[in-house]
Amino acid sequence: MDYRITLMGTGTSIGIPVPGCKCSTCRSIDKRNRRSRCSAFIEAAGEKILIDTSPELRLQALSAGIDRLDAVFWTHGHADHLHGLDDLRALSRDKPIPGYASQETCDEIKTRFDYLWKNTQRGGGKARINLRAVAPGEPVQVGPLQIMPIPLKHGNLQVFGWRCGPIAYITDTSEIPQTSYPLLENLKILVIGALRFKNHSTHFTVEQALEEIKKIRPERAYLTHISHEVSHRQLMKGTPRWVYPARDGLTLKTRE
Ligand SMILES: [Zn+2]
Ligand SMILES: [Zn+2]
Ligand SMILES: [Zn+2]
Repeated sequence: MDYRITLMGTGTSIGIPVPGCKCSTCRSIDKRNRRSRCSAFIEAAGEKILIDTSPELRLQALSAGIDRLDAVFWTHGHADHLHGLDDLRALSRDKPIPGYASQETCDEIKTRFDYLWKNTQRGGGKARINLRAVAPGEPVQVGPLQIMPIPLKHGNLQVFGWRCGPIAYITDTSEIPQTSYPLLENLKILVIGALRFKNHSTHFTVEQALEEIKKIRPERAYLTHISHEVSHRQLMKGTPRWVYPARDGLTLKTRE
């Protein structure tokens, strides 16, 4: 089966360039240093799957040419991964989109976007999402695809990464629990968060991400959720041959 993943957004929560920032990355003319907030789009077996609804979702959907979604998965409820949810309006006009997240994230979605589940006056339209909580260890079936939640720690928060066939997508993470490593075996593509070189309490640094990549041993790995403290070029220099810095709009293909 052929799999395609498009990394639609690859920046940290504030994006790059950071408004008002005069640093060399934010002023760079290298397009690879323009990063919107993290989201990914997976296509396989005719199914179209979105991971996270970034605040730039509308623009990302337009540039990736998304015309339909069969499912949406959320990693966690932080604003940079969730707040574009309203942009699902256009894509859920014909039928509601099934949405999956941990119980905690589902609760956050229902609080933050409470109007979607309230009776309000007609007109304008709303995003229609059939939200379902997923427990660790419980795969989600989308057509013939099995999507597996990967429990992760993001500081003190419990969050999910998601695995679809030979691809795993884990962004905001500071620790992979021992019990999650078996879920990451035999990967062709691993997308992993690597914020910057300096330590951070809720995200892997570049060095920590490279350590995890060594343990997980995917065929290829891509670093994402990148801060303006690191330029694309600096990242390219500091990574082994099978590890690449991601960039917005990058499409990767593999098969299994
Ligand atoms: Zn984030
Ligand atoms: Zn900057
Ligand atoms: Zn986060």
